[in-house]
Amino acid sequence: MIYDLHCHTTASDGTLSPEALIQLAIERDIDTLAITDHDTIRAHQTLNLNTKHLNLISGIELSTQWRGVNVHIVGLNFQLDSTTMLNAVEQQQQARNERAEIIAEKLEQLGIEAPLAGAKSIAGDSTIGRPHFAEYLVNCGAVNNTKQAFKKYLGAGKPGDVKQLWAPLSQVVEWIRDAGGIAVLAHPAKYKLTNTKLGALCDDFITAGGQGFEVCSGLQLPSVTKHMAQLCEQKNLLASCGSDFHRPNQQWAELGRYSKMPEHCTPVWQHF
Ligand code: AMP
Ligand code: MN
Ligand code: MN
Ligand code: MN
Repeated sequence: MIYDLHCHTTASDGTLSPEALIQLAIERDIDTLAITDHDTIRAHQTLNLNTKHLNLISGIELSTQWRGVNVHIVGLNFQLDSTTMLNAVEQQQQARNERAEIIAEKLEQLGIEAPLAGAKSIAGDSTIGRPHFAEYLVNCGAVNNTKQAFKKYLGAGKPGDVKQLWAPLSQVVEWIRDAGGIAVLAHPAKYKLTNTKLGALCDDFITAGGQGFEVCSGLQLPSVTKHMAQLCEQKNLLASCGSDFHRPNQQWAELGRYSKMPEHCTPVWQHF
């Protein structure tokens, strides 16, 4: 069975429409898919899924802050019509819009012209995020590629890394739980925390009601998978896996592809 419990569409910063993503998932023989766009469930709300080839479960990737770190929590298998979740999404969208204005001000101070209008026109109907600013920075010639845009302007510790608007970790986990879902700590290795700090993040996450841990996030080094699986087991969390797919032709994040989950892990899908 192939599970992919973390991927994006044009509702946030992915390049495939929800329909095209589903088509690709079917081509890749994925059995269970969770679409987890950043702070939005719009893909789920608009998708009219008429296929027996795929089990689609509800999902979202919520932005939060923990001790000044930008942390992502994936919510899985919750009620899409939950009032709590609908309100949460609205609050997060507002935070995204306010954050976009602050990011734009900071970029303007650095000499970039009309960053808000530029990023907004790239985002279109999608939930606005840093990748849209990154694309604008490339288009206006400030940097050569999006990687550089994050390195210079938008990544951790850079002026465009604005996170003070996100709801706290406990709040975000509570939203997911209240909507009947399972909260999963997304791509734990990506925060580049020390082992002690990552352990502390897990403990706070568990205290808040978090149950899952993304042991496998795309194609990561075997040593990383081993380390994450150990931590997952040590903290008694349910193991999740997903590609974090955003667009085709990114070898480390292709839909349905992620490092093999070690056998001692307890998979989160046992609870679906
Ligand atoms: P946001 O949700 O607006 O804070 O933007 C975070 C998103 O930006 C992530 O989900 C990635 O898709 C993308 N991203 C983060 N870091 C990088 C990077 N160094 N290079 C390219 N994209 C990145
Ligand atoms: Mn993203
Ligand atoms: Mn993420
Ligand atoms: Mn993601």
